[in-house]
Amino acid sequence: MYPKVYLKKDEFIQRKHPWIFSGALKNLDKTLHNQIVFVCNTKGEIVATGYYQDSSIAVKILSFEKIELNENFWEDKIKNALLYRQKIKAFGNGTNTYRLIFGEADGLPGLIIDNYDGHFVMQAHTEFMYLQKDIIQQTIQNIFKDDFKSFYDKSEYNDGSQFIQGINDCIILENHLKFYVNWVEGQKTGFFLDQRDNRKKLGEMVAGKKVLNTFAYSGGFSVYAAAGGCQLVHSVDSSAKAIEWCNKNMKLNGFENNHESFVADVFEFLKNVEKNFYEVIVLDPPAFAKSIHHKHSAVQAYKRLNSLALNKICSGGLIFTFSCSGVIDKNLFYNTVNAACFESNRTVRILDYLHLPVDHPVLPNFPEGEYLKGLILYVE
Ligand code: SAH
Repeated sequence: MYPKVYLKKDEFIQRKHPWIFSGALKNLDKTLHNQIVFVCNTKGEIVATGYYQDSSIAVKILSFEKIELNENFWEDKIKNALLYRQKIKAFGNGTNTYRLIFGEADGLPGLIIDNYDGHFVMQAHTEFMYLQKDIIQQTIQNIFKDDFKSFYDKSEYNDGSQFIQGINDCIILENHLKFYVNWVEGQKTGFFLDQRDNRKKLGEMVAGKKVLNTFAYSGGFSVYAAAGGCQLVHSVDSSAKAIEWCNKNMKLNGFENNHESFVADVFEFLKNVEKNFYEVIVLDPPAFAKSIHHKHSAVQAYKRLNSLALNKICSGGLIFTFSCSGVIDKNLFYNTVNAACFESNRTVRILDYLHLPVDHPVLPNFPEGEYLKGLILYVE
C-alpha cells in the first residue's frame, strides 16, 4: 500500500535503531520525500514502516511492523505516551506540566509536544511531522477532552496559522513552584522541562548558600534555589526578556528579596566575579555544538566556561555543570570538565551524574536521544 525501499543488508535494521541512513538503501528516490514507505529486508519482506526524507537520514521509522498511518495509529502512539507518563508519575503531585511526546523515544521521530497544564505546544523537527499537524492536534483534543485548553504549533516549517484558541502563555506548576511560560515569545517550547529533576536536586543542596545561576533563562534554577533556602541567588542571562521572566517567576513564588539579576554575557560576567564569593554555581549553557562541525569549538567553549567557574568558586563549593549538545556525548563532556579541572588546578569530586527526567525517556537502541548530561562537582 506504500512505496517500498530496500535494505542493502539486514544488519541495518537488526539493532532496531529508528534511523536508516541513505547509504543503507538500495534504492534512493527523491520523489518519495515526505511519503510513508515500507522498509524491506534483503528477502523483500516488509520489516518496518517509516517516512522517507531526501537527506542523509533517508527513513525515520514509525513502526518495526507493516502498519497503516490512520487515525488509530496516532491515537495509539499518543495514548501510549500518556499512559507511560501516568504510570511513571511524570506529573501530578504539584506538577501539571510535562513532555508528552519526545520524538523517537515515543515512536514519533521528529515530533516534540509539551503539555503545559492543558496547553499543548508542538515542535516538529521534520517537515513530514509538521504536515501531520492537524491529525495530531485533533487526536490530542480527543484524548484529553475537557483537559485540553489550547494548541500552538512552533515548528520552523509553519507558515501561518499556529494557533488553535490563540493563547500565548500560562502559569504552570512544577514541584509546587509557579512558572510563567510564554510559548510564543519564549525559547524552544517556552520552558526547559528537561531540567526539572536537576533543579530539584539543586534546591536540596543550597540551604544557606550563595548561588550563581548562569544562563538562567526564566529562572528555573533560581526559583528552586530560593525555595531550598539559599542565602542569595544571582541570575545571569544575555536575553533581557529571559531576565524579565526570571524576575517575574521569583516574584510569583515570593522570592524576590534575596535575588538579583543581570543581563550580561556569562563569560564576561564570570571574569569579573569576586573570587570565593559564590558557594554554588550553575552552568547551563545553550547547545554550543548544533552540529558535528562545531564539535571542536564547542569542547573548547565548555572547557573555558567550566574553568572560569572553577577559578571563582569558593573552597567546598558546588558546581552544577551541563551540556545539552547532542553531538557531545557523556564521556566527551566528562573529559572536557576534567580538562577544565586540570587547567584551573582545582581538586574536584563528582557527587552525581545528572540526566534527563522520566518524561524525556532514553531508549537503549537510540542513545542519540540522551542530549542532556550534567555533573555535580564538589570543589576542594
Ligand atoms: N537553565 C535554564 C535554561 C537555559 S537555556 C532553565 O532551567 O530554564 C540557555 C540560556 O542561555 C538562554 O536563556 C539564552 O538566552 C542564554 N544565553 C545564551 N548565550 C549566552 C551568553 N553568552 N551569556 C548569557 N546568556 C546566554
